[in-house]
Amino acid sequence: MDTVMQFDAYGGSANLQEKVKRRVEELEGELSTTQENSDIFHLNQEKTAELSADTRYLMQEALALGVETDGALDISIYPVVQSWGFTTGNYRVPSESERESLLKSVDYRLVGLEADTASIEPGMMVDLGGVGKGFTGDEVVKTMKEDGVTSALFSLGGNIQTIGTKPDGEKWYVGIKDPESDGYLGGVRVQDEAVITSGGYERYFTDDDGTIYWHIMDPSTGAPAHSGLISVTIIGPCGLRCDGLSTALFVMGREKAAAHWAAHQDYEAVLVDESGTIWLTPGLKDRFIPVDQGGDAGDSDIVILEQI
Ligand code: ADP
Ligand code: MG
Repeated sequence: MDTVMQFDAYGGSANLQEKVKRRVEELEGELSTTQENSDIFHLNQEKTAELSADTRYLMQEALALGVETDGALDISIYPVVQSWGFTTGNYRVPSESERESLLKSVDYRLVGLEADTASIEPGMMVDLGGVGKGFTGDEVVKTMKEDGVTSALFSLGGNIQTIGTKPDGEKWYVGIKDPESDGYLGGVRVQDEAVITSGGYERYFTDDDGTIYWHIMDPSTGAPAHSGLISVTIIGPCGLRCDGLSTALFVMGREKAAAHWAAHQDYEAVLVDESGTIWLTPGLKDRFIPVDQGGDAGDSDIVILEQI
């Protein structure tokens, strides 16, 4: 997954590391957009493909999140991600007309999902990158539990997932990165939860004027999402859902994010806007622990997200 995995786990067998590695590689082989022979690679090439049970499940859940977020999460955004150079590192700013023409192929509602096959229209391509790491984390949790693990914290490319508490019974402490520095905004204590962040700072390029273009795209414009948010962290029991929502709420912006939270209330969120204000869902009021970085972070406004 082009990413590093680190873990701390208690109670597993001597083969735990090997089992986790095998499962992550298996998922990568199914879900990758670039590995030839993956389900997604076939689908993007042939426009129809048979899917493994994993790919089918993830695609079904990602499409449901597309409906739930009114298209803020759209797995058919891939041609747009590609046109900005995020798949190769050859970054560029596509013209308005190029974007308009690419957007004609972006619509998650046109992805057909049958018993064990998927099909897309000519010109369409799908990418499960907005949900893949969270789902992989859920599968790592399963693999670890099956191996006897009762307590674990692992990081999959910056996404944190946990099993149980620390061996001493205390909750795990997970730091949340400050999008504007190398430090942390603060942290939360968690148990059996995922903490997943989508940040503008994670993968981006700048043009000659210093404008920043990041890898989270607004499917309604075909350009990097400019919703006023620069970082969204979702905390909840399901990694797949947290990952999908971190991307979607980043696209939606603070007000729509607040409305989404109020309608569902099955997760907590930390939103950071362009002015540096930190917005917390009410459930984090007593759980969020701000970090004082030499007086700096102490200046951040922390506001409880009002229910809309
Ligand atoms: P990361 O995986 O880098 O931690 P995200 O979970 O936010 O970050 O996913 C971003 C990835 O998802 C992008 O690299 C791209 O492949 C894909 N993507 C970008 N915008 C969207 C979107 N609006 N809907 C679905 N997938 C997206
Ligand atoms: Mg995501």
